[in-house]
Amino acid sequence: MCEFVCRSIRVQVRTTASFTREVEGGVQRVVGYFQTTPELINSSTNLDVDGIRSSLHSQVENFKARGSGFTIDIILEFTIVITKYRQLHRRSYIPSLKWPKNKHCVVNVRNEDEKCFLWAVLSCLHEPSRNKEHTNHYKPHLTSLKVSGIDFPMSPKQIPVFEEQNPEISINLYAVDPENTELAFIIEYLSSHKERQLHVNLLLFEEPETGKSHYTWIRDMSRLVAHRTNHSGKTYVCNSCLHPFTTKKAHDNHLSYCQSHPSQQVKYPDPADNILRFKSIHKQHPVPFYLVCDFESFLTHRIPSTTTRQMTSTRVAAGSARLTNIGLADSAVTVSRHTPNIRPRRHCTEEPTT
Ligand SMILES: [Zn+2]
Repeated sequence: MCEFVCRSIRVQVRTTASFTREVEGGVQRVVGYFQTTPELINSSTNLDVDGIRSSLHSQVENFKARGSGFTIDIILEFTIVITKYRQLHRRSYIPSLKWPKNKHCVVNVRNEDEKCFLWAVLSCLHEPSRNKEHTNHYKPHLTSLKVSGIDFPMSPKQIPVFEEQNPEISINLYAVDPENTELAFIIEYLSSHKERQLHVNLLLFEEPETGKSHYTWIRDMSRLVAHRTNHSGKTYVCNSCLHPFTTKKAHDNHLSYCQSHPSQQVKYPDPADNILRFKSIHKQHPVPFYLVCDFESFLTHRIPSTTTRQMTSTRVAAGSARLTNIGLADSAVTVSRHTPNIRPRRHCTEEPTT
């Protein structure tokens, strides 16, 4: 068992800055809004402060390039938005490691030391036909893995170090959220090495009582997420989003799209709470009246010019509507619609499309 806690959050930086420049007769002032791409932070990935700084810097430079002579006057706002990363999917409660054992999808090596990461990797690379939980099968191969500079119990942050020293192996690490009352998987680490000869999917468990974590090997990803589909046979599971596909072709077609984006899940609103309402009534400002006008028109047949390459169309009014509300409290609403006789309003010209 290893003692560390794994959590996933997303971090985004938003900032507002005031820019000024000298113009004839005074100083022109404009406000710029900037934000970074949400960054996934978990037990295997640190916050990339340099990346955030670089992103904001390039955005500011782009902003300044749009209007010559602007310089930053003052930072008006600097906000770090931290949100809990959404679980990939969830279902029933996990009381213990009995759950994956019953699904026959995970190999949980019974180690007595703190090297469960290595045992889990070896159980994949040297899978025996039976008694897969016994370390005796894997002890002869223990020295084949290079672990220079890695501390045990091994943190997910050290997986890239492990991959660097073992260039034929790639690792993906998934975890079960112990605080959730439903079965929830999150991605702790997704290897950037997609073409390596040996790939290992690991599942990290945490004991809520002790806070200890434990690496296991996901022997059968299809069974792991079998409850996500009504398909009764084997499925082909995407490692990036854990979506099961019934055919290999559908899976392969999906990969190029999925791997170009961060892991994500589509979550629809609860049917009992799926209506968006305006709630900030107190932020409204009373106005003496308001007027809303709408006009519709369409273009008639295009007529080519005999002297130029231009086409001429006639824009014809199709209708208009006006809504006037005099006094919010009075609720005196006047609506009028008008559909004129079709007649030319104005001409417009455009280049021929052919
Ligand atoms: Zn996917």
